[in-house]
Order: sequence, then structure tokens, then C-alpha cells
Amino acid sequence: MFPLQQFQGIQTPFYYYDTQLLADTLSVINSLLDDNMHMHYAVKANANPRILSQIAEAGLGADCVSGGEIRAALEAGFPAEKIVYAGVGKSDWEIRLGLEQGIFCFNVESIPELEVINDLAAELNRTASVCLRINPNVGAHTHANIQTGLSENKFGIDMQDMESVIRRCSELANINFIGLHFHIGSQILEMDDFKALSLRINELQERLETAGILSVRNINVGGGLGIDYSDPEGHPIPDFKAYIDTYRQHLHLRPGQQLHFECGRSIVGQMGSLIARVLYIKENAIKRFCILDAGMTDLIRPALYDAYHKVENLSAMEREETEPLLYDVVGPVCESSDVFVKYYALPFTQRGDLVALRSAGAYGEIMASQYNCRTLPKAYFSLNKK
Ligand SMILES: *Cc1c(COP(=O)(O)O)cnc(C)c1O
Repeated sequence: MFPLQQFQGIQTPFYYYDTQLLADTLSVINSLLDDNMHMHYAVKANANPRILSQIAEAGLGADCVSGGEIRAALEAGFPAEKIVYAGVGKSDWEIRLGLEQGIFCFNVESIPELEVINDLAAELNRTASVCLRINPNVGAHTHANIQTGLSENKFGIDMQDMESVIRRCSELANINFIGLHFHIGSQILEMDDFKALSLRINELQERLETAGILSVRNINVGGGLGIDYSDPEGHPIPDFKAYIDTYRQHLHLRPGQQLHFECGRSIVGQMGSLIARVLYIKENAIKRFCILDAGMTDLIRPALYDAYHKVENLSAMEREETEPLLYDVVGPVCESSDVFVKYYALPFTQRGDLVALRSAGAYGEIMASQYNCRTLPKAYFSLNKK
């Protein structure tokens, strides 16, 4: 599946994106959505302009978490009325940008933020559409650093404050309350976690109706659907059907209510690989290291979240098969955490081999840094078959 011939002249490391897989993923999503369902792509997963354009062309909306992402989304062709904007720390200029562009809604995370948005909207003579991000205190079976839906996390408004914040919205002349927003975390593979969120939302909706609040036109359940990092070949497209069906089955929507999703990783994760070259094989008394020219500056997920990426020796695939050996696959950066994977079985590997770090389409290129004065990795795209 990798065009090794084409890779020969290219400076490593670089990202390689399978745009056909992205196209297939997007058409699966579009085939599953009912008329009242809206998918917003979480731009923070990968903001490469070509990828953004392809997603915008497929008709998805954009979920942004900064003014920079709003700009990137607009430039890529996402219409402003399909842009939602979340984040615990929105700066004044970012709020103004959202207001001036007329984005669909601000997902608001606190009363102070609500008041600032109201003031800035008044200055610009606009009304801000607002969803309140409620912290549902629902745990998710995922890495602690990517859980967001527990009271101990910094995100969202406490459930107990929901009614009072909605009332506050109605007192603010330039705020239009249009719904509730949630997001419990990332890389979630247990549909029961999304079921738990659905049941919590049902509870909250009943509470609101009891309190006479009937203005919840939109329910945004966030994103978080995980991907199969161990078997990208076997599961190139995540199970969007199970994911959407979970909400369809358990979330009790009111007539006319619109359901919004914000998926990032599940849309772009499997389309990307980081391609690197083996610089050295180094052995000591207890270890065999495979030292790559790609490091944590190109793909930080293993160092940041203990994440696993499948490693494939592409050059060895063209040679005769050998007994696998155990390698610690590491980068060149001067940090002990610059390790991709330890005790990893690879076929006999030598200097000059090309390797692929799979499932690197999400939270890969976008998180790259220039630490150690390294060059940012470039991106290359497959040619679409269709
Ligand atoms: C990060 C984020 C997402 C996307 O999460 P994925 O796990 O990549 O699907 C969606 N919504 C919000 C508010 C986020 O912060």
C-alpha cells in the first residue's frame, strides 16, 4: 500500500496521507447521518490545509478550539454557519473573530466567559449563539490525560450550575442560548461510555423541562471515538455505525432537536503515517536500539500519552523474510522520553531502511515542534484511485 518507489527521493521524516481512505471514511459518515444529525470535524486533530479542504468538500462542519483554527477552517472552505467554537480560555480577539464571521455557536465553559462574549457582541452589535458546555461527570475508559468529562478536569460548567447559567443567558441581551455541549474524552472504544453520556443528557433534559426551560434546540455530544492503533490494516475505518447507533438508541431527543458530533481522531487517524529512515542500529549488553531520523518532535503521542503506534519496516517487506528481533525504536532528540516503542519485534533491520509509524494522522503533524532546532516534517498525499 505504500509507494516505496515514490518515497526514494523524499527527505525523511515526512507524513504520508492516504486521501482515498479519508474519502471512504467521509462517505461512511455521510451515509449514516440522519437529517437532524451534524458532524463537525475537530480541526485540532489535523489542520493540514489539504485535509481540511477535503473534509469541507464532503460537507462536514468544523469544531474549532482557537481563533487560529477558525481562520484555518474558513480558509479551507468550511462555511461559518457550520463552525462551532469551544475552549476554556477564549481570548477577546478570538471571540471577536467568531462574532464577526458569524459562526454557528460558541461552546461556553464559564459565566465569566459568557459575560465577556455578551460585552464583545454588544460592542459589535451582534448576538452570539451559545451552547453551554456541561461537565457531565462521566468517566471514559481512556488515558487519564485525555479524559475531559470528570469534575476534576478543567473543562465545562458543573451540572449543578446548569439551570442558573441558562437563566443568566436570558438576562444577557446579546446572548442567544441554543443548546448544550458535552465532550468526555478521546480514544474511547467502549460504546458504554457514550451510552453513559446519553443517559446523563436524558437526565439533564428532564431536569430542564421540570424547571420550565424548553429552549434546547441543539445537543452536541462532542467526539472521542477511538481507532484501532494495533491493527490499522484490519480496521482502517472506525465503527461509526456502532457509535452513532449508540446515541440513536439511548439519547432521547425532543422533536426538532438537532444532534451534533465533533469527531477528530476517528476521521483522520488511520489515513496518516509518519515515514522515517533508520539511521543506526546500536546494541549494548541488554538492548538493541533502532534509531530513526524521526523523533518526538515529529510525533509526540508516545512521549506525551504513552501512546502506541504500529511500526513497520517497509524496506524489509521487499527482502526475504527473517526471524524477528526485538528493538527499542527511538528518535534522535535529546530527551530520554524520545522513544516510540520498546522491545518491539521487527524483521532484521538495517541502516537506510524506511519505516512507517502507522495511525499517525491525528495529533501527529499538528503537534510537531522545532525542539532541538529540528525541521518540521512535510506532508505528502496519495493519488486518489477514484
Ligand atoms: C478534542 C476535541 C474533540 C475531538 O476529539 P477526538 O477524540 O479527536 O474525536 C471534540 N470536541 C472537543 C470539544 C474537543 O476538545
